[in-house]
Amino acid sequence: MNALMTPPPHPRSALSHLECTACGTLFPASVLIGTCQQCGKVLAARYDLASAARELTPAMLAGRDWTIWRYAEVLPVLDPRFRLSLGEGGTPLREAPWLGRYAGLDRLLLKDEGCNPTGSFKARGLCAAVARAWELGARVVALPSAGNAGVAAAAYAARAGLPAVVAMPRDTPEPLKAACQGFGAVVLLVDGLIDDCGRVIRAGAATRGWFDLSTLREPYRVEGKKTMGFELAEQLGWRLPDAIIFPTGGGTGIAGMWKAFAEMEAMGLITAKRPRMIIVQAEGCAPLARAYREGLNHATRWENAQTGAAGLHVPAAIGDYLILAAIRASGGTAVTVSKAEILEGMHLAAKGEGMLISPESGAAVAAAIKLRASGALAADEETVVFCTGSGLTHTNLFAADETVLPRPTSDEEARAIVQTLPALPPFDA
Ligand SMILES: *Cc1c(COP(=O)(O)O)cnc(C)c1O
Repeated sequence: MNALMTPPPHPRSALSHLECTACGTLFPASVLIGTCQQCGKVLAARYDLASAARELTPAMLAGRDWTIWRYAEVLPVLDPRFRLSLGEGGTPLREAPWLGRYAGLDRLLLKDEGCNPTGSFKARGLCAAVARAWELGARVVALPSAGNAGVAAAAYAARAGLPAVVAMPRDTPEPLKAACQGFGAVVLLVDGLIDDCGRVIRAGAATRGWFDLSTLREPYRVEGKKTMGFELAEQLGWRLPDAIIFPTGGGTGIAGMWKAFAEMEAMGLITAKRPRMIIVQAEGCAPLARAYREGLNHATRWENAQTGAAGLHVPAAIGDYLILAAIRASGGTAVTVSKAEILEGMHLAAKGEGMLISPESGAAVAAAIKLRASGALAADEETVVFCTGSGLTHTNLFAADETVLPRPTSDEEARAIVQTLPALPPFDA
């Protein structure tokens, strides 16, 4: 074979060690651990960024696939055979001219994470976490989930051939439970919220050796989510927008992107300019927004949490201090939206932009409108709204405008009936 035809070698991961984000203790990356063994807080993966910078250059990226492994130098899986993929990442960054006009923003972009396998950005994090747990010898992976994380974990576990256990609140939407089961996962239904499910998983981890993939209770999910930050910068020509709006529950999305920005700067890919990090929570469950407003570094648990946006139904987050720090350091803010505003955001994205988005994403769209209206977001701030999941499992929320027509008995009659319909209103804000 001609030397020129040799396929490019697999990129090498520059993973070097783990570091506690709270007390700074270092751990080797070669052992499968969850949280800091000194203080119990969140561990972060650290890389030899100087070495990664030599191989992960804009030019070197040109020929690579658009999956999360495009950025393999700064991802934790060393052996390419463990780089599981279902085509996660590489999601469209779309201009939203209609919504932009509606909100009063000169340039509004939507990052369509609903295009990921299993329909949400959870695919990115669980792809990385399951792959790394598999590489390090985990026998069973387990996690609590309000829906999307469980489905994504179950899919990647199926791909790896690993058994998976998913603990879900009993009221999780049926299609999400069924999808987990379809991928072969064991589904445990718990009477309670996501943190009650977390206790069931931690008990199984302690007594049965399950590897716990809970949000920020192992260091690698956030690494997969970090690729949203790399991808966003690459799609914008290696720069970042003025503001990012992200619907936040456990916080790995924000924590992951914030970490990506620091790594990209250290690698010389971007400047020190950061977007304002804006989180959105539901009025019925807003522990991080409350802590931000009160000037606290930690959030207290939100009692009687209620929201139909499952991804935001997180009453307490272990990574609260990381999220609050990112908001403050970037001059961002935290905003809450009502159920009616969430639905309105979903409807506006569907009717105005042709995108069927999840309730969490509807919350983020609504937040952009609300922040612009209050002046917290200026018209000339280039804004990226993360639409974190697809609306396909929530189509029941779109039922509206039903016009019942008489039953035609011929094509001519059908055409005559259609002629009687009123003209559609123009989409003009
Ligand atoms: C999990 C989830 C969120 C919240 O993301 P975090 O990283 O936990 O803050 C938002 N939207 C959707 C669709 C989700 O599944």
